[in-house]
Amino acid sequence: MTGSENTAISLAGAPARDAILAALKSRIEKAGSPAISLATVLVGDDAPSRKYVASKHSTANSIGIKSVQVELPATATQEEVESAVSALATDAAVHGILVQIPLPAHLNEDRILQLIPADKDVDGLTEASLGRLMRGADGHIGCTPLGVLRLLQHYNISTAGKHVVVVGRSLLVGLPLSVLMARKGIDATVTLAHSRTTHLEQLCQSADIVVSATGVARSIGAAHIAAGATVIDVGISRTESGIVGDVDADAVSSIASALTPMPGGTGLMTVACLMENTVNAAVMQGVTV
Ligand code: NDP
Repeated sequence: MTGSENTAISLAGAPARDAILAALKSRIEKAGSPAISLATVLVGDDAPSRKYVASKHSTANSIGIKSVQVELPATATQEEVESAVSALATDAAVHGILVQIPLPAHLNEDRILQLIPADKDVDGLTEASLGRLMRGADGHIGCTPLGVLRLLQHYNISTAGKHVVVVGRSLLVGLPLSVLMARKGIDATVTLAHSRTTHLEQLCQSADIVVSATGVARSIGAAHIAAGATVIDVGISRTESGIVGDVDADAVSSIASALTPMPGGTGLMTVACLMENTVNAAVMQGVTV
C-alpha cells in the first residue's frame, strides 16, 4: 500500500474492524450458530459508559452473539456489584463478562474484576489474564492492545525487529501492549515510556512505530516522529471542539508513513477485539465454533 508523497496513509479502523467482524460472523454461522453469550455489567449513569456498552451489545448481536446487560444504580454497594458478577461467573450460559469501567468511586474495582474467571474475562484485565499474557499462554488480551496489533496486521505493517515506543504504561493499554508487542511471533523491540520518561521526543524519534496512549491531547507532534514512522493514536480527549487524540495529526501526517485517524482509528478496533475475545471465550468453555 502506498500513500501520496508526504502524506501518511490513514490507518482507518473501519475496514479492519469490518474484516474481523465478518470473519467472526461467518465462523459462527458455519458452526450452526451455537449460543454464545456476552454479559455486560453497567453501574451508574455515566453517559459515555452507557454509549460504549450499547455499542458492544449492538455489535455482538450483529454477528450472532447474544448479549445480556446487567444494570445497577450508581448507589449500588460493593456487595451488590460483587454478587451480580459472581452470578454471571457461575452461569454456564454466559461465556464472556465485561464490567464497564470506570466504576463509581466508592467501589473497589480490583476486587470486582478479580471475580471474573479468566476464561470469561473478555476484557483481559484480571490478574489471571495479565499473567497468561506475560507467560505467553492462551488467554484474553485486553481489547485495546489487541486492537492495536490487529490494526497493524490488517495494514501489513510488520513488527518483527521493529522498534516500538509505547507511550503510557496503564494496565488497560500501555503495559499489556508493550508485552504483546515483544511476544515471540510479533517480535518487536519495545520501549515503554510514561510521564517520568526523559527525552521522550528523541526516544520516539528512534521508533519505527509510535503508539501513544496517554490521554494528553495533541502531545505527540512533529518533533517526536521520524520520517516514515507509523503512528498509532490511542488517546481520547473530549474537548469543546470534539474528540481529540494524543497525536497532532496535522503536524505529523507529512512526516509519518501511516497514521490512525482520531476518531475512527483504534477505538473501532477495541469493540471488534471484544467480539474476538468473546468467541474465543466460548471455545475455551467448550462451544464448538
Ligand atoms: P491512564 O491515565 O491510566 O494512563 C495514562 C498513561 O500515560 C500513564 O502511564 C501516564 O504515566 C502516561 N502519561 C501521562 N502523561 C504523560 C506525558 N505527558 N508523557 C508521557 N506519558 C504520560 O489512561 P489509560 O491508559 O486508561 O488511557 C489512555 C488514553 O487512551 C485515554 O485518553 C483513554 O481515553 C484512551 N483509551 C482509548 C481506547 C481506545 O479504544 N482507543 C481504549 C482505552 C483507553 P504515569 O504512569 O507515569 O502516570
